Amino acid sequence: MSGYTTIPYVIAYANELVKDPIRFEPYAGELRLAYRQYRRSDWVHGILRARVRDLSDRPDRRGPERMRKLNTRRQWRCMDKLLCQVCGGPATDPETDRTPWLLTKTVFESTGENSGRTNAPPTCWSCVAKALEECPMLQDNAALYTVTSATSVGVLADLYEPGLFSDRPALARHNVFIAWDAHRYHASALATSQVIELHGMRSVR
Ligand SMILES: [Zn+2]
Repeated sequence: MSGYTTIPYVIAYANELVKDPIRFEPYAGELRLAYRQYRRSDWVHGILRARVRDLSDRPDRRGPERMRKLNTRRQWRCMDKLLCQVCGGPATDPETDRTPWLLTKTVFESTGENSGRTNAPPTCWSCVAKALEECPMLQDNAALYTVTSATSVGVLADLYEPGLFSDRPALARHNVFIAWDAHRYHASALATSQVIELHGMRSVR
């Protein structure tokens, strides 16, 4: 990543990261993870979503970027609207109606011959060209596809369990895929990104 001179739209800046405390609270006869100060917008389909500062559509660039951290809200928006993870604009090619997707092995899991799951948003054609130019390592480590459609299938989350000696939840598992219908895990999950399934994948050389 150090070859980048462009800071991608999905990356979080230090000013955007929040450390609001979480805890387990009684809910419908069980325990669920929650922020201490309740906001209805914290939950997505019954899963708690990690809070970040995202006051507008535009990154708050005042602090240093955190190249390995996603801004959860912007990642979510990219997935919902198929926005480019680098520039934040629409990623779908209006001429072909297909969406270019640059994927590395670590962010992709195949689910069929032409389908797979990822938490990496698409990249528009002009940013694909720029990224390959600025970061030659990508050419060896990433594969380029176009896809016909994408559907939301779940989240990447950290799973917590109640702390033994304090009311601070203990991290049990980091970065686990939780499907929207895997209800037994929802109450203990803190979602950090949305996972979608790509369909009609076609490799681009
Ligand atoms: Zn772009």
